Amino acid sequence: MRHVAIVGSGPAGYYTAETLQKADDIAVDVIDRLPVPYGLIRTGVAPDHQSIKAVSRRYEGVALTDNVRFVGHVAVGEDVSIDELLSLYDAVVLATGAPNDRPLGIAGADLPGVIGSAAFVGWYNGHPDFADLDPPLGAPGVAVIGNGNVALDVARILAKSPAEFAGSDIVAHARDALAHSGVREIHILGRRGPHQIAMTPKELGELGHLDRASPRVDPADLPPEGDDALLEPGMRKSVTHLRDFAANPVAKPVTIDFDFFASPVAIEGDGRVERVIVEKTELDADLRSRGTGETYAIDAGLVISCIGYQTPPIPGVPYEHGRGRFANDEGRILPGLYCVGWARRGPTGTIGTNKPDGARVAELVLGDIGRGAGKPGRPGLDALLASRGATPVTFRDWRRIEEAEVRAAIEGAPREKFVSIEAMLAAIGR
Ligand code: NAP
Repeated sequence: MRHVAIVGSGPAGYYTAETLQKADDIAVDVIDRLPVPYGLIRTGVAPDHQSIKAVSRRYEGVALTDNVRFVGHVAVGEDVSIDELLSLYDAVVLATGAPNDRPLGIAGADLPGVIGSAAFVGWYNGHPDFADLDPPLGAPGVAVIGNGNVALDVARILAKSPAEFAGSDIVAHARDALAHSGVREIHILGRRGPHQIAMTPKELGELGHLDRASPRVDPADLPPEGDDALLEPGMRKSVTHLRDFAANPVAKPVTIDFDFFASPVAIEGDGRVERVIVEKTELDADLRSRGTGETYAIDAGLVISCIGYQTPPIPGVPYEHGRGRFANDEGRILPGLYCVGWARRGPTGTIGTNKPDGARVAELVLGDIGRGAGKPGRPGLDALLASRGATPVTFRDWRRIEEAEVRAAIEGAPREKFVSIEAMLAAIGR
């Protein structure tokens, strides 16, 4: 028998398990710090994007196979160390994602009211770490920094009316706070131009169909239309949306301004954020942004930086600081230790990108470990955890938590999530 531990039950973890599980004589343990599975599907994908979240049914199919086990509410680094896992399993695969925000690194970034997207997205998605965030939504102005899909998610969630959350699983505390929000002017700051955005067309197009909010693009920021022909088709579609927003401004109570060629250089305020100082930029020959020295201010009571994520380092595990991921060769970190997904490649790509990634790393693992080295595997982990008084949450337990969440759903919603570990455990009588 060969034994594999996967740390992290998000898309990368379950796609890896899906390929491993098809091999003979294998037992796979998917370990997660939370009592609930699916990582970014539950706490990252926007609550109004339920069709993307539906992929969790596929992971459930993997989790319910005989040779895959969910080991929830077990924190690697606290309940069990990486070294202990390496002694118990033939291979350990880190599928820990990239849950930390890249630092903004400008003056004033530590003022109250400046929030990273990991925290803000975690808040509206009910991640226990961020349930108490209480973002300041009283002032009309908000600055959203970054030109990727996370910036779009954040701007859209801030802009939506309560009725537009029907059918979503946005959590109660966010639903209520947003219903009373004073936000009216959302600025999406891109340090480069419309041809350099990292936004996909479907997500960008959604901004054109909001009940009470309308996107605004300054036509002067758009490159000559003929230049769009040089773009790959997806980008061309995205830029077409921007051209449409510029050509057809619609008056609605909430505005979403695309501030292109706009790099935040400082955040100011008396004890809390009041404004962002932005420097106008231009592109250099390599299409990088370069400051022009000209600045302006945007009034904002809330700043959300959506400039990408990092994998948290683990003591003793080689790490590539520049790229915010584990140092690895195609997924191999050290003998017996692997990484997959954002922990391997950095925070890029969609959920689906993790499928071939997981399959490739699983094949690598299977090739490396052969028939296994007679390690203790599951019984060994169970004994260790029992000796420390840690009781894992099983997949059966999770399904009871899920049933309770479905029962608690408001009308039309798929579920009402528990937003604390205590409440999740209480649902299974602990
Ligand atoms: P991203 O796509 O890498 O975008 C990050 C943005 O931040 C870029 O526009 C980047 O601009 C900007 N940025 C970086 N450092 C900056 C700085 N110091 N000052 C100002 N701007 C800065 O990252 P993301 O939006 O976090 O998304 C992560 C991944 O998840 C992406 O692959 C994304 O497509 C995916 N995702 C997909 C969906 C969906 O499919 N619905 C939803 C959410 C996320 P530069 O280009 O100039 O560096």
